Formats: sequence, C-alpha cells, structure tokens
Amino acid sequence: MAKKIIADVCTRCGICITECPNEGIDEAGNGDVVIAFDMCSECAGLEGGSRCAMVCPVDAIEDDPDHRDDEETLLSRAVRANPGLFPVD
Ligand code: SF4
Ligand code: SF4
Repeated sequence: MAKKIIADVCTRCGICITECPNEGIDEAGNGDVVIAFDMCSECAGLEGGSRCAMVCPVDAIEDDPDHRDDEETLLSRAVRANPGLFPVD
C-alpha cells in the first residue's frame, strides 16, 4: 500500500522529498509535506524498501490503508517514473 505522512509528527525537514525516486512527495500549500498516493510505488523494484520511511528521522511515514494497490500497479508506477532504472525485456 502507498505511504502517508503523519502531519502531527512530521517536522517538515524535507529529507524525504529528495529521497523519493518517483518525485511523489512535496510540500502542500499549507506547508505540510505530503505523499501523492498515485505516485507512490512503495519503491517497488528498488532495493531496501520504502526510502522515505527509511530516511525519516522521526518515523512520521506509515502505510496508508486507504490506498492499496496490487504489485503490478506499483511496479508500473515505478517504471513510469524511472524507466532507466528498470531493464527492458
Ligand atoms: S515509498 Fe518510495 S515511492 Fe512511495 S513515497 Fe516513499 S519514497 Fe516515494
Ligand atoms: S523526512 Fe519525515 S519529518 Fe522530514 S519531511 Fe519527510 S515525513 Fe516529515
């Protein structure tokens, strides 16, 4: 499932923004840092799992139960965002 940021815990440090390979994290108009669920691939196909959650210093990133996607959808998002990272058959 996609990831989401707990606004009350997030310090808005911005580290996760640069870490997301899909450019799926950004600052919203109110200053909150948010994840676009339709851009999040859960870092499918990349080693180590969700990069945003790994780098967040305050553990403000968790699974988003409202946005569950199958593996095929996640992988297609990852490939669309970073075609160069995935080998073509
Ligand atoms: S799990 Fe990966 S793709 Fe999803 S928001 Fe975090 S860094 Fe971006
Ligand atoms: S790394 Fe964590 S604390 Fe920093 S902006 Fe992202 S969610 Fe917020």
